[in-house]
Amino acid sequence: MSHMEMQQSQEIARLELERIRAMTLTPKARLGIPVQDMPNQNPDLRRANMEEVATGYTREQAIIEAERCLQCRNAPCVAGCPVKIDIPGFIAKMKEGDFAEAATVIKRTNLLPSICGRVCPQEKQCQLPCTVGKALGGVEKAVQIGRLERWEKDSGGRRGARWFDLRGGCAPGRP
Ligand code: SF4
Repeated sequence: MSHMEMQQSQEIARLELERIRAMTLTPKARLGIPVQDMPNQNPDLRRANMEEVATGYTREQAIIEAERCLQCRNAPCVAGCPVKIDIPGFIAKMKEGDFAEAATVIKRTNLLPSICGRVCPQEKQCQLPCTVGKALGGVEKAVQIGRLERWEKDSGGRRGARWFDLRGGCAPGRP
């Protein structure tokens, strides 16, 4: 994993988001959007703490990565997901910037997106059959569904999402 800190990623992603916002995003253009690398801690800092090495996408990176999704009608990614998250559904909400609704979509079938986004072997599950990865010739080029799921729970949908309430029903904004 190459070392790229949050600040550096943010500036690169800001420019990339400006670029793709100015384009008509045809499927071919979406295939040309680069995979977003995960920022991580500076090695000089991380050797002195117990925090996660990977620090998670910035907001701009999450939107750019979401824009790589082709919204396939047959959604092969969903077939690869053990809990059948509506992957194109939550990604579509992220593209619109409606992060609370994206989190709500995930929560319909998965109460632990923050954990699944970190520990699921996405390269053998949802990302393996992803149409983008297939078109670009490698699972490492698939839409980074796990990173989006992680970001969505960590940052995007924390406020306003309707999390399932074990005491009965749903409640807005539950962590
Ligand atoms: S297979 Fe890939 S491109 Fe198609 S809907 Fe799923 S994540 Fe998006």
